[in-house]
Amino acid sequence: MGTDPPTTDEEFRASVRAWLAENLAGEFAPLAGRGGPGREHELVTERMAWERRLGEAGWIGLGWPVEDGGRGLAWAWQAIFHQEYARAAGPGRIGHMSEQLLGPALLTFGTPEQKARFLPGILSGTQIWCQGYSEPDAGSDLAAVRTRAELRDGEWHLHGQKVWTSLAHIADWCFVLARTDPQAERHRGLSYLLVPMRQPGVTVRPIRQLTGTSEFNEVFFDDARTDASAIVGAPGDGWRVAMGTLGVERGVSTIGQQAGFQREFEGVLAEARRTGAIRDPETAGRLTDAWIGLQVMRHAVAATLGGAALGGGAAGGGDGGAGGLSRPVAPGTEANIVKLLWSPWRQRLGELAVDVAGPDATVTGPGYELSDGQRLFLFGRAETIYGGSVEIQRNVVAERGLGLPRG
Ligand SMILES: Cc1cc2nc3c(=O)[nH]c(=O)nc-3n(C[C@H](O)[C@H](O)[C@H](O)COP(=O)(O)OP(=O)(O)OC[C@H]3O[C@@H](n4cnc5c(N)ncnc54)[C@H](O)[C@@H]3O)c2cc1C
Repeated sequence: MGTDPPTTDEEFRASVRAWLAENLAGEFAPLAGRGGPGREHELVTERMAWERRLGEAGWIGLGWPVEDGGRGLAWAWQAIFHQEYARAAGPGRIGHMSEQLLGPALLTFGTPEQKARFLPGILSGTQIWCQGYSEPDAGSDLAAVRTRAELRDGEWHLHGQKVWTSLAHIADWCFVLARTDPQAERHRGLSYLLVPMRQPGVTVRPIRQLTGTSEFNEVFFDDARTDASAIVGAPGDGWRVAMGTLGVERGVSTIGQQAGFQREFEGVLAEARRTGAIRDPETAGRLTDAWIGLQVMRHAVAATLGGAALGGGAAGGGDGGAGGLSRPVAPGTEANIVKLLWSPWRQRLGELAVDVAGPDATVTGPGYELSDGQRLFLFGRAETIYGGSVEIQRNVVAERGLGLPRG
């Protein structure tokens, strides 16, 4: 970052752009466009080094309070960072769950000691976290979590199984939703524990996906331990902490998604031109629908985030970090609607991608190497499930947005 700190939106945008151009080069050049959903297996070591580079340069925790080690940047500048990062095809962030899920949970609910212990590792990109919520019989119905934890001799002892735990195979720590009071009703008996992954009581077993790779895992706790102080909130407070964290999941970083979607759409369009599929009226209609879907998403995200996503050259009335755009509306049904727009959109784009490729789409490269279109098609199945399935999102919109009776 330059010696003179930026004072306007445009100066800030220029500083982000310059930093990315300078750093997403040399040893990091191959990272452009790699990683992220469906590609989490790619260049893991290099992307971990990239996390550290981001941390050193102060690009992690942009909106976090300065007293907690963040940069306290206005919403508009965070939005600009995510836009530029996506435009530069910055790699999928291995530290996503650390920064976007655990960090905000600690900032909101953590003690000063917990913040001092864990935030520096997240901010420096040196500590990777995974999210241990889902279990074989507790996904949509998360309050049914059965993994139990008991406090004995100054330590929590955990027994149980998590599933679909993304990046558990590389994570240093896991934030775990566990049952600490077996007598209490469902969500009332849950606690939010911070558990080191590299210990004898933790077994991680990869799950092979349609894409042939494994970005998520089963995680078994067999007397896994963590110290008594590694609980965020009070015992029994886990539901409140976990829900607070999920709210942030669909926050400012979704702005970057839009640029990625645009790139994917352009890839499919180019392939349709190359194969001649574009001359087929039905395909042309589907491409047009996909493009319209992109515009709808762009506007929906902008509305959710208070106008920041439409920024382009001017991300709104930002005034250099102190003011600018107000924070977005509290995460509520707007974020659910955005997820309902993009996840089926991306699934349809994947279907279109394989259709325009024609018979080639049925053949993979050596070692089950997938084209972008094939990966989009196969991984698309997961889009409507993770982060809350589309059915659950619709329930939330129906109940909270429209006041319809619970199903
Ligand atoms: C790629 C990927 C990564 C993931 N990463 C993580 C992770 O890192 N950590 C983590 O904890 N979890 C993770 N998950 C798990 C994810 O959160 C769950 O898969 C999701 O919440 C759905 O739960 P489930 O799989 O148990 O399905 P279920 O809850 O069993 O649902 C099955 C089907 O029933 C529908 N359904 C369920 N309840 C209702 C209802 N009340 N009304 C209408 N329909 C309903 C669902 O929509 C779905 O179609 C990941 C999942 C995927 C696909």
